[in-house]
Amino acid sequence: MARILQQDDALEAACRHLAAGEAVAMPTETVYGLAADATNGEAVARIFEAKGRPRFNPLIAHVADMEMARRFAVFPPLAERLAGAFWPGPLTLVLPQAEGSAIHPLATAGLDTVALRCPRGFARQAIARLGRPLAAPSANVSGRISATTAEAVQAQLGTRIPLIVDGGPTPVGLESTIVKVAGETLTLLRPGGLAAEEIERVAGRALVRGTTGVEAPGMLASHYAPSARLRLNVAQVEPGEALLAFGPRRARGAETAVKVLNLSPAGDLREAAANLFGHLAALDLGAAAVIAVEPVPASGLGEAINDRLARAAAPRDTGGEKL
Ligand code: AMP
Ligand code: MG
Repeated sequence: MARILQQDDALEAACRHLAAGEAVAMPTETVYGLAADATNGEAVARIFEAKGRPRFNPLIAHVADMEMARRFAVFPPLAERLAGAFWPGPLTLVLPQAEGSAIHPLATAGLDTVALRCPRGFARQAIARLGRPLAAPSANVSGRISATTAEAVQAQLGTRIPLIVDGGPTPVGLESTIVKVAGETLTLLRPGGLAAEEIERVAGRALVRGTTGVEAPGMLASHYAPSARLRLNVAQVEPGEALLAFGPRRARGAETAVKVLNLSPAGDLREAAANLFGHLAALDLGAAAVIAVEPVPASGLGEAINDRLARAAAPRDTGGEKL
């Protein structure tokens, strides 16, 4: 079972685990979050692993203040105003990523936008102390109810994480409200702990509604798709193909590949998850029209890796033409 520390005594221990790339459960004002360094791909992979998430959906990166937020996102005037009014608090803003943003692509699911929030309470202290943003989805097993007490976290994730910070029951108890800001357009992506009307009052305009979740799954799939075609589970590499490898043994013909990148030479799924988006993007920059992909085991994080690869390999909305 995880160690539980009261929040007044937990800052140093929590930051030690986080700096070591581990995931720590901690209170925010909304629900308990399962937090890890958002700039460290393996740390982010640990979140998916502990939650047993079958998919790498984008996570919210939590920041300590506006100064930190500006390192990762571009704030149009409307976003500036909303953050000024509601941060710290239960409002997440989806914004264009800033040039040179250090948020790991596993945390943004490879999108060119980033979801940012400045939380209240212990989580904010930990972020400020660490000096880095924390990716933190709700601290529950995937598909189960969000945890609003340390005991609830222990019951779901206790065997999978080293530390739970106990701050008592969370005051809001609902996840944050997510608003996407694109220039002057505000879209409500998820209703949550801050009422839409309050946001509209401060923004002086209506929120566009009707979209739920991240994006339509089809749209999301095309975000993940490289422009090269993917060939999955290959045993034989054809001449001229690039190769996305996994583990210590190579597919036949690997020596003819124009470029080879290995997700994890040791066959470690956590390392592979952390490398997935970056390696795909790097191979896609090369000249190869086809990226051959070696089999990745389906267990543990492998399920999410295979899900993501299958989406990247899916025919495009353009009828399969190269985009
Ligand atoms: P949670 O699992 O509670 O952290 O929720 C994270 C949610 O934030 C995801 O399910 C998405 O709906 C949303 N989200 C995060 N990043 C983005 C993004 N870049 N664009 C759109 N939605 C996002
Ligand atoms: Mg959740």
